[in-house]
Amino acid sequence: MQAAERQIPVHAPMDQFRTASGELLIGGIPISRVAARVGRTPFYAYDRSLLDQRVAQLRAALPKSIKLHYAMKANPMPALVCHMAGLVDGIDVASGGELRVALDSGANPADISFAGPGKNRLELAQAVAAGILINIESFREVAILADISKTSGYPARVAVRVNPDFELKHSGMKMGGGPKQFGVDAEQVPDLLAEIGKAGLAFEGFHLFSGSQSLKPDAIVDAQGQSYALALHLAEHAPAPVRFLNLGGGFGIPYFPGEQRLVLSSIGSNLAGLAERARRELPEAELVIELGRYLVGEAGVYVAEVIDRKISRGQVYLVTNGGLHHHLSASGNFGQVLRKNYPVAIGNRMGEALESGVSVVGPLCTPLDLLADKMDLAKADVGDLVVIFQSGAYGLSASPQAFLGHEAPVEVLI
Ligand SMILES: *Cc1c(COP(=O)(O)O)cnc(C)c1O
Repeated sequence: MQAAERQIPVHAPMDQFRTASGELLIGGIPISRVAARVGRTPFYAYDRSLLDQRVAQLRAALPKSIKLHYAMKANPMPALVCHMAGLVDGIDVASGGELRVALDSGANPADISFAGPGKNRLELAQAVAAGILINIESFREVAILADISKTSGYPARVAVRVNPDFELKHSGMKMGGGPKQFGVDAEQVPDLLAEIGKAGLAFEGFHLFSGSQSLKPDAIVDAQGQSYALALHLAEHAPAPVRFLNLGGGFGIPYFPGEQRLVLSSIGSNLAGLAERARRELPEAELVIELGRYLVGEAGVYVAEVIDRKISRGQVYLVTNGGLHHHLSASGNFGQVLRKNYPVAIGNRMGEALESGVSVVGPLCTPLDLLADKMDLAKADVGDLVVIFQSGAYGLSASPQAFLGHEAPVEVLI
């Protein structure tokens, strides 16, 4: 690499996937064969062995006593949730629909928890009947749960989701600190705990989630330390011993040029210290972290086929049959402030000479339908396969599939 080139931020290498004979391998299978097996494009493909690998790496880096939960909103594909259920210690759901998939996955209901700012009565009743842990996020939920418990005769297992008085610094999405729709403000929690005690609900612990998509170990260490301290303080007001303490997650993956994979060592040693303290200070508590994208994001690709190659005033456009209706986040329209490119490659032309300044667009009649803006890609033509990496989380289920009425893509787990 030339010295001058080193200045330009580049994508982290997508070396979680191997290549052979110029083809990207998904689950060990060349991508054009995967496409033939799926029978059509576009599709999402998730690689089972990468899911296994990621959980194994994480377990090796974290203390054994830390429980690992999968936040399934990152990817709710039923086969993938089933696979994850066999790898992790619990599943976190955020709706009645997700709860159904989690229960189908074979996860033990005792290890499923439910968070979300607007749980309706029906969802709460389902959750109580299922025997899962409900993270209470408002005073209203206490009253409804007490009523459901009384009328159904099933005990309601609850934890309190706390809106902390701090946030996860430098994170992609802040979900705690200041005014938020999530959880109950830390300063109101003592009153809420009193209500829970009066209502006779089975109190089990606390849930704190301060943010998402952080690539800064120091910020994660800091947030986990503060979450522990806040929970310890609030535990003094609890109607029962803390048995469950969810310290959140927020581990990010590299999407954009210049971003690098998170180094887990300091997070692991910090959690070991917190686990050691918890053995003394909260002896009945199980410490949990909950992760979505970190577990599944890097294991998935979105694959679309080039259906036209156009040159407009010198600019090369690869027009594909996939676009923002399937993959909103890769188009830059799912929370990004400045649009940046996801890592992209031509999956059946790996290692071939690059053509510079190529844009990949979808079939939708909007300039927002952009999957790669002026990137260096192997020279591609009609029939070639455009691969968008880092697509295992917040892909299909986070995209407006009905927009413009194209067919839905397929999802496969390989
Ligand atoms: C969205 C969410 C997660 C998952 O976030 P990731 O960035 O995918 O890890 C975890 N917990 C809660 C409460 C969430 O809302």
